[in-house]
Amino acid sequence: MPELPEVETTRLGLLPRLQGRTLTRIVVRNPRLRWPVPDDLGVKLVGQTLRGLVRRGKYLLFDFGATTQIVHLGMSGSLRFAGPGEPAALHDHVDWLFDDGTTLRLRDPRRFGAVLWTDDATHHPLLAHLGPEPLTAEFDAAYLHAQCQRRNAAIKQVIMDAQVVVGVGNIYASESLFHAGIRPATAARRLSRPACTRLAAAIKQVLTAAIAAGGSSLRDYVHSSGELGYFQLQTRVYDRAGLPCKTCATPIRRIVQGQRASFYCPTCQR
Ligand SMILES: [Zn+2]
Repeated sequence: MPELPEVETTRLGLLPRLQGRTLTRIVVRNPRLRWPVPDDLGVKLVGQTLRGLVRRGKYLLFDFGATTQIVHLGMSGSLRFAGPGEPAALHDHVDWLFDDGTTLRLRDPRRFGAVLWTDDATHHPLLAHLGPEPLTAEFDAAYLHAQCQRRNAAIKQVIMDAQVVVGVGNIYASESLFHAGIRPATAARRLSRPACTRLAAAIKQVLTAAIAAGGSSLRDYVHSSGELGYFQLQTRVYDRAGLPCKTCATPIRRIVQGQRASFYCPTCQR
C-alpha cells in the first residue's frame, strides 16, 4: 500500500513537469474506483492551469485554482508519465493530458484509489478531520503527549490514527517505536513526556529517511507480510520476526494489534 513516503516521492516526481501546465483533456476508461470518478471532472478541470501540487496525509491535492482535484492511491495505485502514444494497459484507468504533450496516467489494479474534485478542500469530508502532518512543527512532543494522555489505546494504534497524526503507516509505526525504545502495546496514556519527545523525533526521522530512499529507488517490493514497502528501506524490526535485533541480537518478536502485525525488540523496547 502506498504510504506517506511513497506519496510524497510521487508528488516530488510530478510537480516539476506539471506545474504551470494547462490540462487539455481527461480520459476516464474506468470510473469505478473506491468512489466513482465524477462525470463532470473534465468540465471542472479542462482548460485550467495547475498551480501547485500538495500532499495532505496520503491525499494528493492538485491545485487548479478555483477547483482542487483530490487523488488517493488506495491499496495499489500509482501515478506516472506515459510515453508518447503509449497504449493504456488493463489497469490504467485515468489519463490527464497537458498542453505540452505530457500524459499523466493512473494505474490501480485493485481500484481502491480515488479521483475527486472539490471547490473547498479545507472543508472536504475526506480532509477536514485529518490531524497534523508529521513533518511539520505542529507535530511535536507537547502535542503528542497531550493526545496520548487522552487515550487508553496502545501507542502504535494512536500514532496510526489519522486524527492524531497523518501518514504514519504500519511499517513506519513499528520502526519509529523501535527507534524511540517504546513497545507497541504500551498504553498511550502511560507514556512520559520524554518518551513522547523521543517518539515524535523518531517518527520524523523514519519518514524523512524513507522519503530519501524513495527518491533513489521507485521499485516497490512486497514483504512476506504482503505489504508494499521500498526495497531500499532498511528496517530494524518490521518484517524481521525471529531475526536478531541489529542493536542487541535479541530475536525480534511479532504480535498482532488491530489485525495488523507489529514487530519489536523485547530488549531495546521497554
Ligand atoms: Zn534490540
